Amino acid sequence: MEELNPLLGDLEEVLLHEDEIKKRVKELGEQIACDYRGKELVVVGILKGALVFMADLVRHLSIPVIIDFVAISSYGAATKSSGAVRILKDLDAPIENKHVLIVEDIIDTGLTLSYLAENLRARKPLSVKICTLLDKPDRRKIDIRPDYNGFQIPDKFVVGYGLDYSEKYRNLPCVAVLKPHIYQNQGRKGSLPNGYDNGNK
Ligand code: 5GP
Repeated sequence: MEELNPLLGDLEEVLLHEDEIKKRVKELGEQIACDYRGKELVVVGILKGALVFMADLVRHLSIPVIIDFVAISSYGAATKSSGAVRILKDLDAPIENKHVLIVEDIIDTGLTLSYLAENLRARKPLSVKICTLLDKPDRRKIDIRPDYNGFQIPDKFVVGYGLDYSEKYRNLPCVAVLKPHIYQNQGRKGSLPNGYDNGNK
């Protein structure tokens, strides 16, 4: 396998395998399609982390949807305390009087999503709901709960299926924890974000 994909050699532990992700994303898509049947739905993906999940999820939505994206400032200083993240790319179209489903890769502290959901609610949509692939409830700083959730995972920094470390590993088909030397090799710049140690001191 590692010969096929050299990235696999960097993984300490696979938390979610490709097949179980596929199965769960299909279930989520079917549930969402059922809940929004007959309604006008705008699916808003958060770049770049939600890209892979979004692409798979929308293909299980057997209802007409409009797809849009926002890009917000990445994981780091701005999101740590206030959640007041910068919108780098806004929606292409207004969402007034539309149902909105935000698609996110992972909810961690909840600060990013609570800021974004608030920002979108101010535009007078009919509803705003949240669909996340992964949820790390242990790290929550704000009481925000996804309406649709793929998997709850432990308090570890993960990569793959859209999630990156230093912009790499997004293209892994699974969700995994990296070997500790990957971070160490990168020196100070490469340390884990936001106080993670993944249990590897
Ligand atoms: P929150 O504002 O909920 O703390 O953070 C949400 C964002 O932080 C996610 O969209 C994601 O970009 C990043 N993030 C949180 N946990 C992880 C993780 O375990 N791995 C990666 N790659 N990014 C994470």
